[in-house]
Amino acid sequence: MTGGDESGTRPGEHSPVTPDWSCGTCGDDWPCSTKRNRLLDEYQVDRASLSVYLGSCLAAASQDLRTAPVSSLQDRFIGWVPRSPRTA
Ligand SMILES: [Zn+2]
Repeated sequence: MTGGDESGTRPGEHSPVTPDWSCGTCGDDWPCSTKRNRLLDEYQVDRASLSVYLGSCLAAASQDLRTAPVSSLQDRFIGWVPRSPRTA
């Protein structure tokens, strides 16, 4: 066992678990609030890429979660993103 290694899967990664699209770390619906904050931080200068990324997640999730209404999935995957980029 090696500890403190940054490579590979980290326990706090908050990655989605398919086909349920729940968070692998905290178990909330993905993207959970922690993941949302991380994504905003990661894509703060490139909000367009974030939309593309979330759009692809939404497309994959809608294949897995066929019983969920599309509008609620859109809300869950994309609706939380702030409309206007924060200006520093
Ligand atoms: Zn999480």
